[in-house]
Amino acid sequence: MSDIKITRTTSSRRGDVDFDNIPFGKVFADHMFVASYDGEKWTDMEIKPFGTLTLHPAMLAIHYGQSIFEGMKAGISKDGNPILFRPEMHSRRLNNSARRLCMPEFPEEKFIEALEELLRLDHHWIPTKKGSSLYIRPFMFATDEFIGVRPSDTYKLIIFTQPVGPYYSEPVKLLAEKKYIRAAMGGTGEAKAAGNYAGSLLPAKLAKEQGYDQVLWLDAREYKYIQEVGTMNIFFVIDGVIVTPATSGTILKGITRDTFIHVLTGEGYKVEEREVSIDEIEDAHRAGTLTEVFGAGTAAVVAKVSKIKHLDNVMEIDTEAFEIAPLLFDRIDALRNGTAEDPHGWRHPVLVGATV
Ligand SMILES: *Cc1c(COP(=O)(O)O)cnc(C)c1O
Repeated sequence: MSDIKITRTTSSRRGDVDFDNIPFGKVFADHMFVASYDGEKWTDMEIKPFGTLTLHPAMLAIHYGQSIFEGMKAGISKDGNPILFRPEMHSRRLNNSARRLCMPEFPEEKFIEALEELLRLDHHWIPTKKGSSLYIRPFMFATDEFIGVRPSDTYKLIIFTQPVGPYYSEPVKLLAEKKYIRAAMGGTGEAKAAGNYAGSLLPAKLAKEQGYDQVLWLDAREYKYIQEVGTMNIFFVIDGVIVTPATSGTILKGITRDTFIHVLTGEGYKVEEREVSIDEIEDAHRAGTLTEVFGAGTAAVVAKVSKIKHLDNVMEIDTEAFEIAPLLFDRIDALRNGTAEDPHGWRHPVLVGATV
């Protein structure tokens, strides 16, 4: 018997949403999951109508930043069953982030059960169009009402979901950052911590003022080795070999990144995870061997990169000629919606009719 208490909404908002035209990030499905940590254990797990929270002004998360999150997507199979994609990886990463920020872990089986129940209730919120999906946002934050720097005793874990349309991102232009950094060895770069994003806003804003969409982060010591981009890991195709920076402590371990590596290796491509310097990319561009650059993340899946500026060197990349990036987009979409083989067992179907 599940200990998740379920209170259904009495007035679904589903009919108010135009599923052919979903504004990004603004639409929320009917329900949310909420659990509380009382200092010793997770309690009061419930699914209830999506709504606002009431916060104490001294709530620790606001002042000292104990706040982490995940981002994942669900698709839907032809027979109408929601499909989660690698949910246990997201659960493990959430718990890795939690450990780094001195927060309690949330049990994997409860995490998956919460997702399943939520999707059963809100399965009619999953868009069916190609490239569309239901974005799932689990997050945890400190709730002690206290001023003083120490780990909170109490926390909340919440999961809400959002329908998202096909995310046609225009090719992105990147500015290799030569002053600010995202993460240094020993820092929190490997955690999906809210604060990492706060620190990235100013450099991103300055890059925008120069006509670039996002920052390409370089290492904190030499401004030489490539880390990642905003909310995405980065891939390069050089001389037919797919190269991506190794995750050595400063890079978020993207699940899309990991999926790409498996899919590409499985299809016979050569993939290298290693240090990638910006000089190597500039040399490859000059030599004409740099054929693709793309970002990998849950939101966009693949984002083609059309331009990279590093110091005075502006590199243009012909995104029309990309072959691997579009292949990956199709493969992931097919995996997520149940139309492709799933040799790794990444799909986690949720049977809608199976509510006990
Ligand atoms: C979430 C995130 C990614 C991408 O991870 P996915 O699991 O593929 O969505 C990459 N970089 C950063 C900084 C992130 O927060």
